[in-house]
Amino acid sequence: MRNGEVSYWWQARGVPPRRPSLPGGAEADVCIVGAGFTGLWTAYYLKRADPGLRIIVLEETFAGFGASGRNGGWVTAGLPGSRSRYARSTSGQPRGRDGVRELERQLRETVDEVARVCVAEGIDAGLVKGGTLSVATSAAQDARLRQHLEHERAWGDGPRIVRHLNKDELAERIKVTGATGALFYPDCARVQPADLVAGLAEVVTGAGVLLYEGTRVTAISPGRAGTPAGDVRAPYVLRCTEGFTADLPGQHRTLLPMNSSMIVTGPLSDEAWKTIGWDGCETLGDEAHAYIYAQRTADGRIALGGRGIPYRFGSGLDHDGAVAASTVAQLGRILRRMFPVTAEAGLDHAWCGVLGVPRDWCATVMMDPRTGLGWAGGYTGHGVAAANLAGRTLADLVRGVPSPLTTLPWVGHRSPRWEPEPARWAGVRGLYALYRAADRLESADRSPRTSLLARAGDRISGIPH
Ligand SMILES: Cc1cc2nc3c(=O)[nH]c(=O)nc-3n(C[C@H](O)[C@H](O)[C@H](O)COP(=O)(O)OP(=O)(O)OC[C@H]3O[C@@H](n4cnc5c(N)ncnc54)[C@H](O)[C@@H]3O)c2cc1C
Repeated sequence: MRNGEVSYWWQARGVPPRRPSLPGGAEADVCIVGAGFTGLWTAYYLKRADPGLRIIVLEETFAGFGASGRNGGWVTAGLPGSRSRYARSTSGQPRGRDGVRELERQLRETVDEVARVCVAEGIDAGLVKGGTLSVATSAAQDARLRQHLEHERAWGDGPRIVRHLNKDELAERIKVTGATGALFYPDCARVQPADLVAGLAEVVTGAGVLLYEGTRVTAISPGRAGTPAGDVRAPYVLRCTEGFTADLPGQHRTLLPMNSSMIVTGPLSDEAWKTIGWDGCETLGDEAHAYIYAQRTADGRIALGGRGIPYRFGSGLDHDGAVAASTVAQLGRILRRMFPVTAEAGLDHAWCGVLGVPRDWCATVMMDPRTGLGWAGGYTGHGVAAANLAGRTLADLVRGVPSPLTTLPWVGHRSPRWEPEPARWAGVRGLYALYRAADRLESADRSPRTSLLARAGDRISGIPH
C-alpha cells in the first residue's frame, strides 16, 4: 500500500512536471497566492470577465498540491458553517435568514456551475451528479437524521433539498451494513479532484494567466507579494492559502489547519459491486461525530476519508500526505464494517491533507478596497464547490462590480482568532477524543439520545449542526 505521495488522485493521473518558478520581480494587475481551487477559480472568472487583466498566480509547490488535489471529491452544496451564525453575523453582510437562504441557493447552483465549466472547457474529471447520502448506523445517529430533517424544514427548505430514505429505500441505492436509514441531498456531485484542479490550471494558463510554481510567498502587504526571487507588485493581492495560511506572517491564529485522512481500495470486482449496488454514484457520509465521507470512484474503487489525527501542535503541516498506521487501520475498520466485501480488494493507498477551519467554523470572502488585499477560505471541509462561488465573488469584488454574490452573508464575515498554543492543541485533540468515545458509546447502546460527551464537545468547539 502506498502512503502519502500527495494523494491517490495525483498518483492515478501522474504528478505533472513543474511549471517554471517566478524568475524575479514582476508587476501584475492581480496577484493570487495559492493555486488550489480558490486561487484558480478566481483567476478563471477574472480572466473571463476581463481578458486584458494581467494575472499572476504564485504557488509554493504545484497547482493542486493542497487540499484541492487530495479531497474526497464531493462537489457539495453543503454550507461551510452554521446557518444561524451567518444569519446573526454583524461583521459580514447582515442579511439575516434570507441572506443565508440565498447563500445556500447559490451553493446549490454552484454544483451545476462546476459541471457546466467542465463540459465547456473539456475538463474530464469523472463528474457525476448523483446527490449525497448521509446514513445512520445507530439509534442515536438515526435520531440525529430526523433532527436534521426538522432543521431543514424549519429553514423553509422543502423536499427538493433533502429527503428521508428508510432502510429499504437506502438499500435500493447502496447496501451499507448496519444502516437504518439515510438523508438524501440531491445537490452534490462526485469528482476526481486532481483531474479537476489540473484541468482548471491548464485552462487558466491557456487563457494567459501566469502561474509560477515552486514559488513560496513569504509576506503579503498592500500592493506586494514577497518571494525569495523578488516581489510581485499588484494593486490587488489575494490570499488563497486555506489550510496553509498559518505559515504566513501574522496569520498564525486565523485558520486552524485541520487534518483529514483518506484510504482507497483496490478495484472491486463486478461481484462486489453487485453486492454493494451504488450505481447512482452518490457520495456517502454518516451521522457519526467523527464522521466519514466516501465515494465510488470513476475507476471502480471506494475512497473513504475521516478525521484520523486531527491537528498537529503549533499548526504544524505535513507536506507529503503520509498517514499514521493507526489512522489507516481505523479507516480500514470502518470501511470493512460498512462494506465487508471490500476486504477482498485490500487497500491501495492512504494519504491526508489539511483544510482551513476558522474559530467559528464559518467561511469568509473578503476584499478591502482601501488596501487591495483580499482572501477567501475557511470552508471547514466543504470547499470544493464553495471555492468556485468564492472565486466568482472575489472576481466581482476585485472588479468593483456589485452583484448578487457580493452581498452574500459570508462576504466580509470576520471570525474570531484561535486560542494560542498549547490551548489550541489540547482543545482540538481533546475534542476528537470526546467524539470518538461518544461514537463508541452510541454504537454499543440502543438509546436514541446523543451522547453527553458529544454534546459537551459541540459546546466547547462551537461546531455547527
Ligand atoms: C482529505 C481532505 C478531504 C476533503 N474532502 C472534501 C470534499 O469531499 N468536499 C469538499 O467540498 N471539500 C473537501 N475538503 C476541503 C477542500 O478540499 C478544500 O476546502 C478546498 O480544496 C480548498 O481549496 P483552496 O484552494 O482554498 O486550498 P488548497 O487546495 O489547500 O490550496 C492552497 C494552495 O496554496 C499554496 N500555498 C500555501 N501557502 C503558500 C505560500 N506561502 N506561497 C505560495 N503558495 C502557497 C498551497 O501549496 C496550495 O496549493 C477536503 C479536504 C481534505 C484535506
